[in-house]
Amino acid sequence: MNKTTCQYCAGNGYVHVAVGGSETCHYCEGTGVEKDEVAMKQ
Ligand SMILES: [Zn+2]
Repeated sequence: MNKTTCQYCAGNGYVHVAVGGSETCHYCEGTGVEKDEVAMKQ
């Protein structure tokens, strides 16, 4: 079970948005780790 760094936030756990500065990455829910298994199955 390899834990892959989230590509969306590059493992930061948050992303920069145009409005509002930054917010928690909803792709990995702020963990910075890509949930590949869950994402693949759903
Ligand atoms: Zn992320």
